[in-house]
Amino acid sequence: MSTVGHLINGQIVNDKNRTQPIFNPSTGDSTRQVALASKATVEQAIAAAQAAYPAWRATPPIKRARIMFRFKELLEQNADHIAQLIGEEYGKIQHDALGELQRGIENVEYACGAPELLKGEHSANVGPGIDAWSEFQPLGVVAGITPFNFPAMVPLWMYPMAIVCGNCFILKPSERDPSSTLFIAQLLQQAGLPDGVMNVVNGDKEAVDTLLRDPRVQAVSFVGSTPIAEYIYTTASAHGKRCQALGGAKNHAIVMPDADMDNTVNQLLGAAFGSSGERCMALSVAVAVGDAAADALVAKMAEAMKALKVGAYNVPSNDFGPVITAQHRDKIVGYIDSAEKQGARIVVDGRNQVVNGHENGFFVGGTLIDRVTPEMTSYQEEIFGPVLQVVRVKTMQEAMDLINAHEYGNGTCIFTRDGEAARYFTDHIMVGMVGINVPLPVPVAYHSFGGWKRSLFGDLHAYGPDGVRFYTRRKAITQRWPSAGVREGAVFSMPTMK
Ligand code: NAD
Repeated sequence: MSTVGHLINGQIVNDKNRTQPIFNPSTGDSTRQVALASKATVEQAIAAAQAAYPAWRATPPIKRARIMFRFKELLEQNADHIAQLIGEEYGKIQHDALGELQRGIENVEYACGAPELLKGEHSANVGPGIDAWSEFQPLGVVAGITPFNFPAMVPLWMYPMAIVCGNCFILKPSERDPSSTLFIAQLLQQAGLPDGVMNVVNGDKEAVDTLLRDPRVQAVSFVGSTPIAEYIYTTASAHGKRCQALGGAKNHAIVMPDADMDNTVNQLLGAAFGSSGERCMALSVAVAVGDAAADALVAKMAEAMKALKVGAYNVPSNDFGPVITAQHRDKIVGYIDSAEKQGARIVVDGRNQVVNGHENGFFVGGTLIDRVTPEMTSYQEEIFGPVLQVVRVKTMQEAMDLINAHEYGNGTCIFTRDGEAARYFTDHIMVGMVGINVPLPVPVAYHSFGGWKRSLFGDLHAYGPDGVRFYTRRKAITQRWPSAGVREGAVFSMPTMK
């Protein structure tokens, strides 16, 4: 069985003290294992990053950006292999894995603009012969901790920007599907990055806790579930670090009575079931306004779901693949059971999904549940599976109140033809990313990504302009060059321009 190790100071390192099996969720088999880094191994990575920092900080931004240009080319050249690795360990269908990679590459493209992005702000003559400016300096060694569901894209939200800003990086990917993440980091080495600037440590809580506590680590970016995000944020903050911790979600779509129902169903299908519903932006709750809209939605959706193709990652005609582990499949089935017990109606049942030839794979079929109410466990908690729940309300305000009352506020969408309703919704909804007839409003790389409420702990969102701010700190400089000697007496009052 091969072991997936770490990338430290440009070398692949294996510490095999502790390991964990990696599964192929399409077959249920385990053919690889991942090394779980000890505290000492993580400290070795931190030391390598710290040693690489002075020279990297002094490297002109344009030279840092050129490495990103080469990295982008290598990512494109190796796209099929990366998609294959994602498929083997996560089960993501290849077209979806390539889509995830492309969204990651767009963050590399944005990072290629480093010389422009790092330009400061300048004011001449803020006083007689006095100039003032702000510049944005790197932080030092920074870390990223990422989830299983976007092993290529989410790390690429973080380190290209951190690195072009002049920082050195330590990534702790998900231990469930680490191979594509490690392979991509090796491509960055191949693109010409000096050793130690980018390091990957695979592992679990021991590795994460080391990163959170070590005083040499200046900042931590996290993406994962809300309980862990909260733990990361409070622990990193208590240790004096800058932290952004993105958490879980429960994304609602409001379906208005005037929505184009065929289009709505089509959009919802992809957004609810794509990637087996294991997306933090998955639309998992449809809130139908009025019984007529709800009845039409449920009938058309149930019909459309008959065509859903569930199966192994390497069959291109499949719509979605397995879920990540057998335990996660059982958890999803448990949520469907609980909804049924609490009085909801299972319209399309994905429990007991069998895929011929892949009987031991971790599959859950597309599931549609009607008459879900806010008291139900399946409504309150994130399911993270191919399950779409329908809640029935009487008015748009009632739908918005539901969304605003939910603990999560990552993404949401309204399906309507009424511009006034859409505008009111966008203005008043307590959610960070909003779609108008766009089911997955994931911001493009030159905007920034982040939820509200318990979907994000911290101030700055991920990537885009907020990414530049997160990975740099502002220094404000005021200068005067007196020609010779003392030109004015000592001033004891606050200097002003009055
Ligand atoms: P997770 O929280 O279990 O794991 C995320 C990372 O935290 C992994 O690297 C893991 O090793 C580490 N970790 C897990 N338990 C830990 C502990 N006790 N102490 C320290 N570190 C720990 O999340 P996951 O299951 O990999 O990913 C799915 C979750 O991520 C979902 O909740 C999903 O909504 C969320 N997610 C959010 C976003 C977003 O942008 N908001 C994006 C993708 C995924």
